[in-house]
Amino acid sequence: MLRTHTCGELNISHLGQTVTLCGWVQKSRDLGGTTFIDVRDRYGLTQLIFNTDTDATLREKSRELGREFVIKVTGNVIERASKNTKIPTGEIEIVVTDIEVLNAAKLPPFLIEDETDGGEELRAKYRYLDLRRNPIRNNLVLRHKMAQEVRKYLDKLDFIEVETPVLIKSTPEGARDFVVPSRMNAGEFYALPQSPQTFKQLLMVSGFDRYFQIVKCFRDEDLRADRQPEFTQIDCELSFVSQEDILNIFEGLTRHLFKTVKGIDLGEVPRMLYSDAMRLYGSDKPDVRFGMEFVELNDIVKGKGFSIFDNAELVVGINAKGCASYTRKQVDELTEWLKRPQIGVTGMIYCRYNEDGTLKSSVDKFYNEDELTNWAAVFSAEKGDLMLILAGGADKVRKQLNELRLEMGSRLGLRDKNTFAPLWVVDFPLLEWDEESGRYHAMHHPFTSPKPEDINLLDTEPGAVRANAYDLVINGTEIGGGSIRIHDRGLQSLMFKHLGFSPEEAQKQFGFLMDAFEYGAPPHGGIAFGFDRLASIFAGLDSIRDVIAFPKNNSGRDVMIDSPSTIAEAQMTELKIKTTV
Ligand code: ASP
Repeated sequence: MLRTHTCGELNISHLGQTVTLCGWVQKSRDLGGTTFIDVRDRYGLTQLIFNTDTDATLREKSRELGREFVIKVTGNVIERASKNTKIPTGEIEIVVTDIEVLNAAKLPPFLIEDETDGGEELRAKYRYLDLRRNPIRNNLVLRHKMAQEVRKYLDKLDFIEVETPVLIKSTPEGARDFVVPSRMNAGEFYALPQSPQTFKQLLMVSGFDRYFQIVKCFRDEDLRADRQPEFTQIDCELSFVSQEDILNIFEGLTRHLFKTVKGIDLGEVPRMLYSDAMRLYGSDKPDVRFGMEFVELNDIVKGKGFSIFDNAELVVGINAKGCASYTRKQVDELTEWLKRPQIGVTGMIYCRYNEDGTLKSSVDKFYNEDELTNWAAVFSAEKGDLMLILAGGADKVRKQLNELRLEMGSRLGLRDKNTFAPLWVVDFPLLEWDEESGRYHAMHHPFTSPKPEDINLLDTEPGAVRANAYDLVINGTEIGGGSIRIHDRGLQSLMFKHLGFSPEEAQKQFGFLMDAFEYGAPPHGGIAFGFDRLASIFAGLDSIRDVIAFPKNNSGRDVMIDSPSTIAEAQMTELKIKTTV
């Protein structure tokens, strides 16, 4: 090794020792007689001191060291005159006897410090420098720890880690595929896996019994804070299990991670029916760090001459506790926020429960004090509360009220990053109507098993068929999802039929899986956790970007390596890709 110790290691117990450290120059302070230089590596920071006793050429050399120079220094550990209690090495410093510049460095384009002056674009372009900063590196260390604990937990439970291929054919998870042209098979393409779904099911047919993989998946979707075109899943599949077994094992994994990585006892993970999640929160991934459940008002508000309520399929609201003091301006601003096209509300009704006990609504013309008192009772509102009400088509208005609820939760400080509220959402519908294509789509994916007791509804009421499918949600983020699978060729064909596949199409695309089902497929099921999302929740971040070493920006670009990029004409020809000029 070039060094005897790391830059985070030395303390009072090393006094008098001669040591050699390697690292980057964090900063230097020339105080005339004395020069201090902080040298940094992954492990920490150590102070070097050059003073009047230091050899003159060495002192000269120390003055030439710029920020981020890579150096090797040898010296003696002494006790510091003024100690820094904030860092582990703060009681000592090194009197330098030799110094070697291993590599000079250009002045970095932004400060390599916890608080940097670099904007997002610039830091993305020089990601390797951004990764030198403690907050970013710490996220990756945290991610590493999580990955190790995942492996430990699953290994103990006899899961086998198997790598599945990356050049495959489409696995439908509801997104667009990234495709790769095949040089050897002109005009044909591989798809990158949206998930290893079909392979893990085939591993069950092969008798692997318990599989896992921490695996890259690829989905060509529009990007958001919690989406990247390539992301990582903790992907698992098990044979001879019920939904209950899977929930228990992966609740165990979640608890294990919280305990070992964050020292938090997560406790029981509650369960909620999908139908209740939609009714009470308007979302299949409710943030249950706070209550503010939906209150349905159809029974008490209709028939009083207020046409907006009378004509609405659903009148539903939330109780914003302690918000009666909101001024007219604040309420208007909230309404404007709701009217943005992303949410698309046409108007919001409100009712204040004033501190003096009076009730004042924006629809006083139609509802008298007695009726408003009744509203307050239904909302369990107290003096000082503000009832916020939306009306419209049931599905749409629930979605809108979900946005309002989350916004109010944020405004009221109810969404603390250090509080963790997990839950399982269970009994998802098997199918979901898609307006655009005018047909049903699989809500999870086409391999998900309907609940046996609902199979008879497939022909008559497809939308009412429930699936053995479940999601793990933490703080309003979908962390994982899975299902019990179909393992019978007949049922799988029926499912494809309901999804609008002709038998030929189904055979062409998924014949290999259905064929496999005819060779002794065990009952099986599984789940996949979004590893980046889980890591970002552990790190207290809003975006998954900073738990990924080299993420892409919002346009799916890596601005550091400048990708995607065009390829040479010759390469196009070789791949038999036609260009349109
Ligand atoms: N393949 C599924 C997904 O990526 C997870 C699963 O069903 O196990 O969402």
